[in-house]
Amino acid sequence: MNIFVIIKRTFDTEEKIVVQKGAINTEGAEFIINPYDEYAIEEAIQLKNEHDGEVTVITVGNDEAEKELRTALAMGVDKAVLINAYDDLEESDEFTTAKILAEYFNENNYDIILGGNLAIDGGSGQVGPCVAELLDIPYVTAITNINIDKVTATIERDVEGDVEKVETSLPLLVTCQQGLNEPRYPSLPGIMKAKKKPLEELELDDLDLDEDDVEAKTKTLDIFLPPEKEAGKVFEGEIDDQVTELVALLRTDAKVL
Ligand SMILES: Cc1cc2nc3c(=O)[nH]c(=O)nc-3n(C[C@H](O)[C@H](O)[C@H](O)COP(=O)(O)OP(=O)(O)OC[C@H]3O[C@@H](n4cnc5c(N)ncnc54)[C@H](O)[C@@H]3O)c2cc1C
Repeated sequence: MNIFVIIKRTFDTEEKIVVQKGAINTEGAEFIINPYDEYAIEEAIQLKNEHDGEVTVITVGNDEAEKELRTALAMGVDKAVLINAYDDLEESDEFTTAKILAEYFNENNYDIILGGNLAIDGGSGQVGPCVAELLDIPYVTAITNINIDKVTATIERDVEGDVEKVETSLPLLVTCQQGLNEPRYPSLPGIMKAKKKPLEELELDDLDLDEDDVEAKTKTLDIFLPPEKEAGKVFEGEIDDQVTELVALLRTDAKVL
């Protein structure tokens, strides 16, 4: 089985984020594999163990993404591909990324492509479905369980806390949701082996793509943090007085009554 995982290098949103001049300042930020993509990597390795084949991890980024690709290799992925495109284009969006990935898949045999449900930074959840649309293959988002029998996939997906069961066929793209599995940590032997595993580097030219083919379809106008929360108000005194004051404020300040 030819198994592919698309991963994004993201900054760690557990850390303090600084917005400067309408953009996130990533200087000094810690970068990680997008956490949802770790579920995708784990599931890919489990599918390989069950069905044989090969797992390839692929990212659109720049040289710095090699670290995250090596981490995936250390987890047990067989091969990595870095499509080095960030420095070639001034403007990019989800379509740009998806188009580049789809072009790669058009030139490679795949049975299943796994990605994250969404990226914790950009968070649009568009890249996976957009790749599948461009390839004209079925896709299922937010999966929490998958079983493959030859060319049939039986999938459970998260629907706002409920479960939807879906049956579809391969080749297929899925995006992975929390609860699918427990991603493994890279082992020490895994880290040693990862240094020698193949990491292919491609550029847009190698995919016969030029700037026009991947032109962004959207433009980010501004990025800003939510306004700081005002301090809460604690009422004091007799309970009847507190209720009267609360109702008055809901009427005059909050204007919700
Ligand atoms: C030429 C170019 C330049 C870019 N420059 C920058 C930049 O300077 N800084 C920056 O932070 N981002 C940059 N990007 C990344 C781009 O903005 C995002 O990849 C894209 O918009 C994803 O949007 P999202 O975060 O909403 O992902 P979502 O759609 O929420 O991601 C869902 C899933 O799609 C997959 N995915 C998402 N992005 C990628 C990727 N890049 N490669 C492989 N799989 C992916 C992952 O599986 C992820 O879990 C650039 C992309 C391109 C093509």
